[in-house]
Amino acid sequence: MEQNKPKTKFSRRSFLKATGATSAVLGLSGLGFFGYEAGRDPASYTGWKTFEGGDQTFPRHRFTVNEPPYEKVGPTRRVDPRSEIVFSRLPTFVRYWRQDPRIESLPEHLQKYYQEHPEDLELDLENIKVLRPKLMADQEKYGRTFLLAEAWSEAMAAVVPPRITEPPEKADFPYVGWGRGQEKLRRPYKLKSPAKTSRLIKKIAHELGATLVGIARLNPDWVFQYPIPGRGLDPNQPLEIPSHWEYAIVVGTPMSWDPMYANPNYGTSEDAYSISRIIAYRLAAFIKYLGYAARPHTPGYSYDLMVPPIMIDAGLGEQARSSIVITPELGPNFRAAVVTTNIPLKPDKPIKFGVESFCKTCKICAEQCPSGAITKGDKVVVRGYRKWQLHAAKCYNFWNSNLGNMGCRLCIAVCPYTRKANWLHRAALNLSSNDPTGLSHDALTQLQKIFYPGPNPQDYYIPSLGGKNASYRRPPWWLRTEDFIEFE
Ligand code: SF4
Ligand code: SF4
Repeated sequence: MEQNKPKTKFSRRSFLKATGATSAVLGLSGLGFFGYEAGRDPASYTGWKTFEGGDQTFPRHRFTVNEPPYEKVGPTRRVDPRSEIVFSRLPTFVRYWRQDPRIESLPEHLQKYYQEHPEDLELDLENIKVLRPKLMADQEKYGRTFLLAEAWSEAMAAVVPPRITEPPEKADFPYVGWGRGQEKLRRPYKLKSPAKTSRLIKKIAHELGATLVGIARLNPDWVFQYPIPGRGLDPNQPLEIPSHWEYAIVVGTPMSWDPMYANPNYGTSEDAYSISRIIAYRLAAFIKYLGYAARPHTPGYSYDLMVPPIMIDAGLGEQARSSIVITPELGPNFRAAVVTTNIPLKPDKPIKFGVESFCKTCKICAEQCPSGAITKGDKVVVRGYRKWQLHAAKCYNFWNSNLGNMGCRLCIAVCPYTRKANWLHRAALNLSSNDPTGLSHDALTQLQKIFYPGPNPQDYYIPSLGGKNASYRRPPWWLRTEDFIEFE
């Protein structure tokens, strides 16, 4: 599509002429050693540095496109979180299965899902019958190795905003009052222009600690069909999309580098979860004070929508093979939250900066993923959109069978876009974003494999599943339990 061409991309000829792909690659190889060292410098932390969105320094305007870089094949359908989101499906499945281990006793929506996805029934059964018992046994033996990592994760998860239990018509609006039954709706202040308001909202989000901030008009396809179990509302009552969910503001923060990079037993997503969560709640409060509706959708079980496609719509990044969004600033190393609102805003445009082309040949995440959840194949059509589809049940079974903090972020740690923001990695990003030939993509993938190799994926498993409790990199000194705790 002509209109989807990034505005200032060079042609193949001019690119080769201007930079010389071969010499660029050789140059990068030569600088590899220095980059390897520089990339390990803790001072080049990827987090936000200034209150002006200092890390959003990538020249987005040069890569904007009029349509989001995903393909709508149609007809589209909204997600049913009760069955299609593994975090919700598995607890319900376990609850019913323990009472009566027959498919006929499961709720209708689960029966239907398993008929359509028999492989997921097998994986969910494996989870409760094989993986969890083996994990319990290994936890007795090795569990304390990761005690400090668990304590760190617990500390990060300690601040949890309240659940939203009232429907959006009530919960999202700014009521003020001085006593029971005397509250009244706060009237919206008149704003000068959507563009000015967008600038203000972004500044406030950065002040609150966000590295990434983007604005999209909310596409109803991204809203769940039902409230996610655990959100506070009845998960079996269909979720009507309120008319005041006009815009979606996305905020994102990076996960702390050293634990994320040591994965899988030492990292926790809770660090970035909790910060993005707090930013979204505070941003919603700011908007409500101006008299407009606002609802935070935050990590944990507090979403009514899917965040990744909204990030793409808001121009924050592109979908990757790992199914995560890759951003120019943080790669895939972030966690995000959303605020839906009716405050008049000027949406951002999507961007296309070479991720799809890079992921076509790279496949490092698929090769390193211990569970085989990431495809090495092509995109498939899911609910009317063509995308790289993660096999979430496989991924979640790995989470449920490793020690340390529940979860895994290996596909983030091993990705070439997950690099610290030093000069060399900035140069590599600019090279790959402007390269229409794909030559630099192959070269950068090879450099990643040479300078940042990983162990055999099977080694990431616990010993009773044939593994070695391996990590991608050594944990930071402050998470090495053996250096601090004396066990009896
Ligand atoms: S989180 Fe781990 S198991 Fe899941 S897809 Fe990524 S690498 Fe694979
Ligand atoms: S590791 Fe490679 S294939 Fe996977 S998401 Fe990153 S760039 Fe794409």
